[in-house]
Amino acid sequence: MDFHYKVLLIEDDISMSHYTETILELSGFDVIPARNARDAELMARSHCPDIILLDLGLPDTDGMTVLSDVRSWSVSPVIVISSRDEDSSKIAALENGADDYVVKPYIKQELIARINVALRHQQISHESLQSRGSLDIGGLTVDLCRHRVLVEGRDAELTQSEFRIVALLAQNAGAVITYGEIMNRLWGPNSVGGNQILRVNMVNIRRKIEHDPSHPKYIFTENGVGYRMAAPDEL
Ligand code: CA
Repeated sequence: MDFHYKVLLIEDDISMSHYTETILELSGFDVIPARNARDAELMARSHCPDIILLDLGLPDTDGMTVLSDVRSWSVSPVIVISSRDEDSSKIAALENGADDYVVKPYIKQELIARINVALRHQQISHESLQSRGSLDIGGLTVDLCRHRVLVEGRDAELTQSEFRIVALLAQNAGAVITYGEIMNRLWGPNSVGGNQILRVNMVNIRRKIEHDPSHPKYIFTENGVGYRMAAPDEL
C-alpha cells in the first residue's frame, strides 16, 4: 500500500522549510511547500492537503489570517509552527481553530508525533466523511476540496461566500450556528452591515439548493438565533 498523506508546509524561512521538508519526506509524507500566505491559500484549495503546517510569521499576511481562512472551509487539521513561544499566541491560534501548536526549533520526533496525533483525531471526528473531503447530507454533497455543492449530482453554482456558509453549516450538521459566528467566520470580527448580508446570501443559497425555498429541507432558520443544517439522519 503506497498511500502518502499530503502535508501543506507554509513556511517562509527557506532553511527551516528545507529542514522540515526533509523530516516529513523521510517519514513518508508528500510535501507541498508554500512560502507566503497567498501561495498557501492557493495550494490549500487546489491540493486539499490532509494536514497543514503553518508558520505564523509570513511576509505578506499574518499566519493567523491564513488560519481563519482555511478554517472557514477546510476540515484538515492545522498545526501552527512558530518561533513565538508566548502563551497568548498559542491560545489565539487554538481559539482560531488550530489543532495543535509547536514551537521552533522542534525536533523530528516531536513534529511527527504531533502530526500523527492530529491525523488520528481528524479520522475519529470525521468518520462521517464518506469520501475524503466531501460531506453528504441527503441529496446534498458538499465538496470541500473543489468548493462545490451538488444537489442530487448537479452543481448548485454557489458563489464563494455562499459555499463557505453551506460548508460551515454542513461541517456542523444538526447543530445551530449563530448569525454572529457565521458572520465572524466569513467576514471577520469587524464585519459591518449586521445580518443583512447573511440573509441575502441565505435567500440565494436556498434558491439554488432547495426544491421549495419557502419550506427548506436542508437549511433551517432558528429564529433570532442562527441557521441549522439538517443532520444526515434527518433526511
Ligand atoms: Ca516566518
